[in-house]
Amino acid sequence: MIDMQGVYKTYPNGVTALNGLDVKIDQGEFVYVVGPSGAGKSTFTKLIYREEKPTKGSVRVIDMDTSTMKERKVPKLRRQVGVVYQDFRLLPTLTVYENVAFALEVIEENPSNIRRRVMDVLDQVRLKNKARFIPDELSGGEQQRVSIARAIVNHPKILIADEPTGNLDPDTSWEIMHILEEINAGGTTVLMATHSQEIVNTIRRRVIAIEDGMVVRDESKGEYGYEY
Ligand code: ADP
Ligand code: ADP
Repeated sequence: MIDMQGVYKTYPNGVTALNGLDVKIDQGEFVYVVGPSGAGKSTFTKLIYREEKPTKGSVRVIDMDTSTMKERKVPKLRRQVGVVYQDFRLLPTLTVYENVAFALEVIEENPSNIRRRVMDVLDQVRLKNKARFIPDELSGGEQQRVSIARAIVNHPKILIADEPTGNLDPDTSWEIMHILEEINAGGTTVLMATHSQEIVNTIRRRVIAIEDGMVVRDESKGEYGYEY
């Protein structure tokens, strides 16, 4: 599903974020990505949805080679990789419904399909009753659930969550985790970058630790392994 070999990434300012990274992830896995700030976690995830290209090395995602793929193929990749951010990134003037529908409208789904799929996915994140609200009227956990709904409405094969609980209190963080687990149970590969020792050490899954742009540890049912 994801196969990176000998991946290097140096940004135009000369900073080397990835320094010979090798990773293989199978379909259906749930993977935590851990490591200190600046280790290269976000850069690693950005290569998967082709937000960044590697300077050197091969990045295969699903059946595509993102280092050599044509620009016009990028939307096809992005439909298969949903992304959730720490700061939600919802459109503030649109309702919950519209924020989620937007992802489908841009790929020209027919209107009755859009309606059915948006309501199904809002049901899945238990927000059907708030479809008409705008993001400001929601709690942080609810906003994150909207952003998850938006990320999965196209039924992506891969869901990337970059510190999805970073702005949330512990109870709300567990709610988000249970939703991510349900999505993974449905067959979606989930990659989650996190600094939450408590979550990683409680819901045991594969742990990939990145330091200085390299994988320094890779364990099934691993531990967080840092003191912060
Ligand atoms: P992490 O997610 O583990 O905190 P990042 O991948 O964000 O790590 O960053 C790795 C390194 O690359 C850091 O030194 C960071 O400052 C640098 N970096 C990240 N994005 C950019 C960018 N767009 N331009 C220049 N340097 C960047
Ligand atoms: P239910 O059958 O559970 O009542 P509905 O499909 O009627 O669910 O819609 C639930 C919520 O979503 C309602 O608040 C509804 O007004 C809102 N909603 C449904 N479709 C749209 C739309 N196209 N634009 C904005 N809000 C919508």
